[in-house]
Amino acid sequence: MKILANDGIANSGKILLEAAGHTVVTETVAQDNLIDAINNENYEVVLVRSATTVRQHVMDSCPNLKMIGRGGVGMDNIDVEYGRSKGLHVFNTPAASSQSVAELVMTQLFSLVRMTYDANKEMPENGASNFKVLKKKYGKGVELRGKTIGIIGFGRIGQSVAQYAMGCGMNVIAHDPFVSKANIKLSIQGKGIEVPIETTSMEEVLTQSDFLSLHVPKQADGSAVIGTNELNSMKDGVYLVNAARGGVIYEEALISALDSGKVAACALDVFENEPTPNEAILEHSKIATTPHIGAATLEAQDRIGEELANFIIANS
Ligand code: NAD
Repeated sequence: MKILANDGIANSGKILLEAAGHTVVTETVAQDNLIDAINNENYEVVLVRSATTVRQHVMDSCPNLKMIGRGGVGMDNIDVEYGRSKGLHVFNTPAASSQSVAELVMTQLFSLVRMTYDANKEMPENGASNFKVLKKKYGKGVELRGKTIGIIGFGRIGQSVAQYAMGCGMNVIAHDPFVSKANIKLSIQGKGIEVPIETTSMEEVLTQSDFLSLHVPKQADGSAVIGTNELNSMKDGVYLVNAARGGVIYEEALISALDSGKVAACALDVFENEPTPNEAILEHSKIATTPHIGAATLEAQDRIGEELANFIIANS
């Protein structure tokens, strides 16, 4: 089959596909030219990450299209149910990136509590002239150990964050309307232990957490999971991380909560207005930002590429 990997594919996946006799093209076609490219080049499979969207009109206009694959988890850029109703294979790689996203969350937690995301920006400019002032400004860190992290959305990534957080000595609580209990498996120096976590109410998680990390999908109605009311019920000085989807935290309310001191600091990997996040978010001194790189590790991309390839090979 002829495959267009429009947002790229790891070499590991490309090699598997080519060894099975498929042709893989990794040139990026602009969104507006996607239909023409699929039809003119006879692509039967389109692979995307989060950049390319595949909506109904693309599926309707490309009669030879057989499969649409999403390298990653969230499939909000594809009309999944419509595609499946037309008999297309629409698939993703749900487990491949959980660990990488969880590691980014831990990176950001450590960065927030020691303000390194901000100090790293200020040191090159003012480190030599203002060392003592900066030492005072950034010398107000707190530790993660012994603190409570609340995880909202206790699926694959939420549970992976729980593993890392427990490894750091944090107390984990979680809320998920569809997961009542999960056994968190830890492997320490080759010794395995399992810690059962029973999820609790949203209210409990909001009011009891020192840190909150979101791991929910984009909500079907596009609504925010964390808005003004939820922010108001949190502890004063709470830290937040959103590596789930833009819009699950209402950004305007977040900025107010940061400005009032209700939220101490926040890390965002995802934004309401991707790929052009609000300037007020990007420039805010209490927000650590990354450009949607949760799954962007060599290991995750290799696993994603292999999972996509294996699905295509098994179904062609
Ligand atoms: P998952 O399906 O395993 O888990 C999501 C969980 O969220 C489910 O258990 C679901 O019941 C729960 N949930 C849904 N709505 C909720 C709500 N309102 N309150 C509480 N819980 C709710 O998915 P996952 O693999 O853990 O991924 C979670 C999300 O992370 C994805 O949907 C995707 O949007 C995002 N993600 C981001 C990156 C990144 O690069 N930053 C990478 C991968 C995934």
